[in-house]
Amino acid sequence: MKKQILFLILLYCCSCSNKPKLIGIQPYDEIDSTTINSISESLKQAYDAKIIILTNKTLPKTAFINIKSPRYRADSLLIDLSKNRPDSINYIIGITTKDISTSKRDNDGNIKKPESKYSDWGIFGLGYKPGNSCVISTYRLKNKNLKIFDSRVRKISIHEIGHNLGLDHCSAKKCVMQDAVETIKTVDLAGLDLCTDCYNEIN
Ligand SMILES: [Zn+2]
Ligand SMILES: [Zn+2]
Repeated sequence: MKKQILFLILLYCCSCSNKPKLIGIQPYDEIDSTTINSISESLKQAYDAKIIILTNKTLPKTAFINIKSPRYRADSLLIDLSKNRPDSINYIIGITTKDISTSKRDNDGNIKKPESKYSDWGIFGLGYKPGNSCVISTYRLKNKNLKIFDSRVRKISIHEIGHNLGLDHCSAKKCVMQDAVETIKTVDLAGLDLCTDCYNEIN
């Protein structure tokens, strides 16, 4: 009888233990290995995840748009990444040097006014909430100071995977899930970590 109880307890514990998350990094075109390694390292640390770096790909032409300037639609990239994600991978993050964009919408789902500004809005990154794909671009993260650039890449990657895991924007000071509110300054002021509330929500 005792043995049976022990077995049941063991079974229960096995089913509740958190499996490590497997995150695939999808490099696009000419993105450099230093940037890929920074993303890999920071996601491993932030989410206790296993990382797989996938074979480099060319950005899908179907995502290309040229309204204000040449860009790739982040929404299309998310669909493409999700569709072509290897089954063994839980989450996939695309990384490109090209500018990416989306339509910025209000709470009712309408494109924010003025439409000419927000219908094709350049962004740092985008991720499903929750979901299995996100994409980031280094285009708007550039800085002469490579440390600042590196820290931006890390924060945006952790932020977008956070959305995939179901995290919303957070108002806690320094939390990496803060809304960038259309400026890189917010990203620079944020820390690299999730606040305690965000951390507890996904652990
Ligand atoms: Zn966000
Ligand atoms: Zn937070």
